[in-house]
Amino acid sequence: MSNSIPEIEELIKLISKFPGLGSKSAKRIVLRLINNREELIKPLTNTLAAVYKNVQRCRNCGNLKSTNDKCTCAEKKYNQICVVENIADMWVIEGSGIYKGYYHILGGTLSAMDNKKEDDLLIPSLVNRAKNESIDEIILALSASVEGSTTAHYIQDNLKGLNVKISKLAQGIPVGGEIEFLDDGTLFSAFKNRAPITKN
Ligand SMILES: [Zn+2]
Repeated sequence: MSNSIPEIEELIKLISKFPGLGSKSAKRIVLRLINNREELIKPLTNTLAAVYKNVQRCRNCGNLKSTNDKCTCAEKKYNQICVVENIADMWVIEGSGIYKGYYHILGGTLSAMDNKKEDDLLIPSLVNRAKNESIDEIILALSASVEGSTTAHYIQDNLKGLNVKISKLAQGIPVGGEIEFLDDGTLFSAFKNRAPITKN
């Protein structure tokens, strides 16, 4: 494939940024695309434009929502919030059917390496939710990594004094384990055995 066309080069560069894809697989994807203009490029272009226009992250809970619709976090329905690092983690927990309640998607963990700070994560809005909604329990479903524990401690500190039970997934998560890659059995046991952190 000739790489002298700037649009193609740019596309390869963009697609190589996806997780798990290097420039070799990006080139294969681009080839597939240009060989299927009507079946792939056209609907993909329209769908991407629609997603860009109509989908955004809720500023209250971090979940994805339609731009014009209210987020599901606005429904007064549950009294538990499960705090996760990212949307992939939420999808895994949701797909397992273990938990029915609100989610709160931080958008990462506190990490010196990625330069992630408190303000980048949705921790202030989590505190607000705990204060203003009738929440009984906050379940911290964060990775068993240094960053995950640091973030969990930081959240605990921020929720101090509020009348809400804080628990975290305990048994079953291997050290360094990321929620996204846990099997349903491990996740189920981690949820069932979640341990209270504070009772206030
Ligand atoms: Zn929301």
